[in-house]
Amino acid sequence: MKSEELFRRASNVLPGGVSSPVRRFDPHPFFAAGGSGCLLESVDGESYIDYCLAYGPLILGHAHPRVVEAVNEQIKRGTTYGVPTEEEIELAEAIIERVPCAEMVRFTNSGTEATMAAVRLARAFTGRDRIVKFEGSYHGAHDYVLVRPGSGAATAPDSPGIPVDTVRNTLTVPFNHEEAMAELIEGAGEDIACILVEPVMGNIGCIEPENGYLQFLRDITRENDIILIFDEVITGFRLAPGGAQEYYRVEPDLVTLGKIVGGGFPMGALAGRREIMENISPAGNVYQAGTFNGNPVSVTAGRETLRLLDGRMYSDLERKGSTLRAGLRDLLSDLDLEYQVTGPASMFQLYFTGEEVRNYGDAKKSDTVLFMEYFHGLLERGVFIPPSQFECCFISAAHESEHIEATLEAAEEVLSGLKN
Ligand code: PLP
Repeated sequence: MKSEELFRRASNVLPGGVSSPVRRFDPHPFFAAGGSGCLLESVDGESYIDYCLAYGPLILGHAHPRVVEAVNEQIKRGTTYGVPTEEEIELAEAIIERVPCAEMVRFTNSGTEATMAAVRLARAFTGRDRIVKFEGSYHGAHDYVLVRPGSGAATAPDSPGIPVDTVRNTLTVPFNHEEAMAELIEGAGEDIACILVEPVMGNIGCIEPENGYLQFLRDITRENDIILIFDEVITGFRLAPGGAQEYYRVEPDLVTLGKIVGGGFPMGALAGRREIMENISPAGNVYQAGTFNGNPVSVTAGRETLRLLDGRMYSDLERKGSTLRAGLRDLLSDLDLEYQVTGPASMFQLYFTGEEVRNYGDAKKSDTVLFMEYFHGLLERGVFIPPSQFECCFISAAHESEHIEATLEAAEEVLSGLKN
């Protein structure tokens, strides 16, 4: 197998044989040869129906011809300039038109950079140091937010190399738990700059906010002069043109974007209320910069992608998601397995647990060994989902009914052979 051989070579020069940790799975990942629509091809000649979709960006599927064409045209004219372009304005305007809270935009190179800038901006604007995130939420790989478990002030860094002092001001609470948040704010509210929340938790599987929870966060932050930041790196342009804030009708002060906004190229963005955004340098003095910020190739891919995402596509995605989730529930209901099928619109995940999954603590109770059997079983049958219980599956506009049906058939074969 070529992938096995490549993995051996890769392991010699790339830590763990990969460039980002989740890509590694046992015995070795398959190496990509190419992708087209909802199919991902391996160097071993296999073809997979892809529900990983590069962890979210590929809402149109792989290599959409219109995006490829626009990018090719741009590349011929240069790949980076170090001066502004009209395309940056067009993409910023397209974001502002769609995303309710967006009045101004700063482009970055990744979602990580967007949340890093958002936290700095919120701290500068409020003159407060503490930030609140949720147990199990992921906002990128920078120091201030790489804190997962624990609660209240008893936080610990999630990686060696992060000084405890760096995360002293990062507080965590359970998602979907109003009392825990109210208690935290009661005690420390005047020191809190921002609450950073993934409106749908997409890095611990897929967990939706309970009815009214996001509105509760909006109200409590407003009452306490705390900035509410929606991290929509996953949900932005996925749940609706305006992301989760449109889907759940709650408007934050700031939003961080990534994945889809770059149309398959590296990019992130921070957007929000003008009054706050105008503090970013050079308009204000909150420093944020990047050689590749607003890169013309990424901007072109993002702009073309947003042009292609119309209302019909979103209702199709919603329908495909419902069909897939209902199909999974249907076949699981006949089997002797404990399960939860979760997710809104074109996001979904399956947990092997009998209890409802409302937050990190619940998600951790699922049977991850069984999940990996499910993953490998699907892979053997030509279906690729992210190789972790704690990632989210995505559907693209390129998935047709026949792909969903084939996926459910594969899932039935795999699940009927599992036991928990
Ligand atoms: N925020 C969320 C919600 C994410 O899911 C991710 C990445 O998966 C990030 C931020 C970081 O984005 P990036 O990987 O582009 O740095």
